[in-house]
Amino acid sequence: MNDVKQKIDHLRRLLDRLNYNYYVLNAPSAEDREYDRLMAELTALEAAHPEFDDPNSPTRRVGSDLTKEFLQVAHRYPMLSLGNTYSEEEVREFVERIERENAATEYCCELKFDGTAISLTYENGRFVRAVTRGDGSVGDDVSANVRTIRSIPMSLQGEGWPEYMEVRGEIYMPHESFDRLNAERADIGEEPFANPRNAAAGTLKQQNSAVVAQRGLDAVLYAVQSDGPVAASHFETLQRLKEWGFKTSSAVRRCRSVDEIMEYIRYWDTARHELPYETDGAVIKVDSVRLQRDLGATAKAPRWAVAYKFKAEQAATRLVSVDFQVGRTGAITPVANLEPVRLAGTTVKRASLHNAEQIELLDIRIGDTVRVEKGGEIIPKIVGVDRDRRPAESVPFQYITHCPECGTELVKEPDEAKHYCPNATGCPPQIVGRIVHYISRKAMNIEGLGDETVQLLYNNGLLGDLANLYDLEVEHLVPLERLGQKSAENIIHSIAKSLEVPYARVLFAIGIRYVGETTAKKLAAAIPSIDTLMAASREELLEVEEVGGKIADSILAYFADARNVAMIDRLRRAGIQFEAVRAERLSEALVGKKIVISGTFDRHSRPELKELIELHGGTNQSSVSKTTDFLLAGAGIGPKKLETAQKLGVRIISEDEFAEMIGGDGAGNDRKVLEIQQPTLF
Ligand code: NAD
Repeated sequence: MNDVKQKIDHLRRLLDRLNYNYYVLNAPSAEDREYDRLMAELTALEAAHPEFDDPNSPTRRVGSDLTKEFLQVAHRYPMLSLGNTYSEEEVREFVERIERENAATEYCCELKFDGTAISLTYENGRFVRAVTRGDGSVGDDVSANVRTIRSIPMSLQGEGWPEYMEVRGEIYMPHESFDRLNAERADIGEEPFANPRNAAAGTLKQQNSAVVAQRGLDAVLYAVQSDGPVAASHFETLQRLKEWGFKTSSAVRRCRSVDEIMEYIRYWDTARHELPYETDGAVIKVDSVRLQRDLGATAKAPRWAVAYKFKAEQAATRLVSVDFQVGRTGAITPVANLEPVRLAGTTVKRASLHNAEQIELLDIRIGDTVRVEKGGEIIPKIVGVDRDRRPAESVPFQYITHCPECGTELVKEPDEAKHYCPNATGCPPQIVGRIVHYISRKAMNIEGLGDETVQLLYNNGLLGDLANLYDLEVEHLVPLERLGQKSAENIIHSIAKSLEVPYARVLFAIGIRYVGETTAKKLAAAIPSIDTLMAASREELLEVEEVGGKIADSILAYFADARNVAMIDRLRRAGIQFEAVRAERLSEALVGKKIVISGTFDRHSRPELKELIELHGGTNQSSVSKTTDFLLAGAGIGPKKLETAQKLGVRIISEDEFAEMIGGDGAGNDRKVLEIQQPTLF
């Protein structure tokens, strides 16, 4: 085979794989710039060799985010990508190309939000569904998740909207939500999301909309697709969207020349660092809707718009040393100490190095001049090394083999990026970290005890594990620095109060790796006592919703450690709740009824519906059989379940019918009941 063909095939395969990692797994395996460089290389090769043309080439198609978990819906109007540019020269070329065949025109400049594209369908002013870009023609129906985003209107204000329209925009995760989410993930030993874009896209594809609701997504809308235009210009279209109650960006400017466009770009290239969300460029759009129509689109992107991508700000500095931090779960994080350097408005002294593989990949050595970059994360990262400035005496970096805190040999699982210290019960930062997690607000909520006091108590030999908290007395605390009689009494009172904390939160608090808040709730609902949980087999654990192999193995490993079992026993003797208190029934409406739930619903998540069934005396079944009384069917119901139900003559009911059955009015009043009931459940 010809060399060029081989190269083209190689690039197509490589880009398909990068697309899959980026759009479906939400775990990019290359830097964006590298991806764009490979795409440009393939585009150039294909242009020079039209004989190897292929309509399936990644240069010709939108990268697809389609998954099997959601119902797929066709877009009435295609959802495209954008062409991208990296220089002023390319922006000039874009404007010249437009104006070569048309008169000088106006452009609308706006920010390029770094999230994930969404299409919201409205019929007669009411929200109907939300669909991801998918492959551009067909997308995943993520309506249940999008409904949790408060800034998206369910019915429109004002007037004049088309009978049917698809409003296009971006769902993004503000920095604040992103930092909180990643801190929570690190807390339970999950890999953090690489950036806010991946976090937003990953969240939107969650199966449980209750989880989505907690993650703090937001949306900005910037286009309308309908059978006729809603205004003569793009700028006016944005005004309409705003009048109808959509959140639009205020950073929009009409420009008449390349100079004005560049002024906008330069301004926002700096000012964007102050925004509470991530942007990765500016989008330049021809303002006249008629001209947009005349210019048309390729299969991949409109010809009337282009994205200018901001260069991530970089700075060069020297790597002085590397520290290794040990987290609560034993995860080792290498952190670079740098010669201080100014970057994007702050002085940077430390940067994340992620893991051993990344250090090896970049061949980073002490004394090297490295390039640091600030992305969506608070802590900057090292993205490259200047080999020409490498000191002659430098040697390859040796990753540590033993824990810097307790000296235990580190382990690394083949499918994990990080090394771990396995000495969970003997390694000081792990012990202190676990206690800090245990007392935190979402766990046992023990007030008055902060990280520093825990460290102090540990250093003074008063806290060796969680159960020691319940041995503490006021007299132990008073002599410690910074603690007076009053605060000591408050702490002891707060510790005593933690005995009332319900089982689901206790399960989260004891810090089993990968068992986050939601998993703990699911576990406590399905396996309502710690004794049954300790005795559960791997298969039984896997039956619990949201528990996969990784979590099941982690639970088994936790209880296989005799030290944990002994500690649980001491906590039990202190009076901690190790059994779920069953909620009282709300009615007898469903007594004896067996109900299967399938699909996604407007007002409740599936776990909520399961609880409602149980609260009204019914039983939730996982699959349809002869014994099933009802199939509670939502959007995107599993075709197999539907077919079996029809074959067996099982009655199929909607969410509204279900609400009526349990005495709700279908307008969400059953949700209120559930919210009131929940504190006693969890
Ligand atoms: P894109 O993100 O570069 O641009 C198109 C998207 O921009 C639209 O779909 C829309 O969602 C969004 N957008 C944000 N603000 C907008 C606004 N104001 N107006 C219009 N659209 C706006 O294109 P893409 O096709 O989603 O992704 C391609 C890019 O993604 C690549 O250039 C690369 O940077 C990155 N990528 C990286 C990898 C990797 O492995 N690192 C893999 C695939 C894609």
